[in-house]
Amino acid sequence: MSSAFVIEPPIIHSLSVAGDTRRFAVNRIFCVGRNYADHAREMGHDPDREPPFFFMKPASAIVADGLDTAYPSLSSDVHHEIEMVVAIGKGGANISPSSALDHVYGYGVGLDMTRRDLQSEAKKMGRPWDTGKAFDQSAPCSTIVPVSQCGHPSAGAIRLLVNGKVRQEGDLNQLIWNVPDTIAYLSTLFTLEPGDLIFSGTPAGVGPISKGDLLEGTVDGLVPLKTRIV
Ligand code: MN
Repeated sequence: MSSAFVIEPPIIHSLSVAGDTRRFAVNRIFCVGRNYADHAREMGHDPDREPPFFFMKPASAIVADGLDTAYPSLSSDVHHEIEMVVAIGKGGANISPSSALDHVYGYGVGLDMTRRDLQSEAKKMGRPWDTGKAFDQSAPCSTIVPVSQCGHPSAGAIRLLVNGKVRQEGDLNQLIWNVPDTIAYLSTLFTLEPGDLIFSGTPAGVGPISKGDLLEGTVDGLVPLKTRIV
């Protein structure tokens, strides 16, 4: 044990990087709610009337590419939400939309796994969403592709297959708050730091998963995400 700490220091959670043996160290995970109009509608909201809102997951919620994802405790209605993930490489506060993309290291494909039953209960009671959103293994994420390889995806298919069947499908050009605007807005609320991830929202088609399901998420131009629910 290190002599500098009275306990073992926390693990640095990380993701693999395409074309690099080094890894992307994960700091915080910010998630944008209802950022595709068709998903906002399926959840019973008017997409035109809402500014973006955010919730968080701990870095320990990450499930690195290819590993199994455990079905969480105390829920019988766990939903998949496929999302493009923005990996922040350079921090900052009050970032302008025109310079926001300079802060991005790369992009990945993630799942914002959700205990929908606990989230719905929290909404009804006016309570925080943490138990519905921020549980163990609630953030499976693919390899991160550096901007030098993939550019800044702003259009192209985003898709989730469950056991080989398409369950969610959309296009990045349907994002209500695009990546630069999301970074700019988020950076007025929090000082962004290197290692922060932003889950950018999910298209329509969210639904329940079961133990044994194979989830495969793709975003055009990025490395796919694959995880089995166990
Ligand atoms: Mn989501």
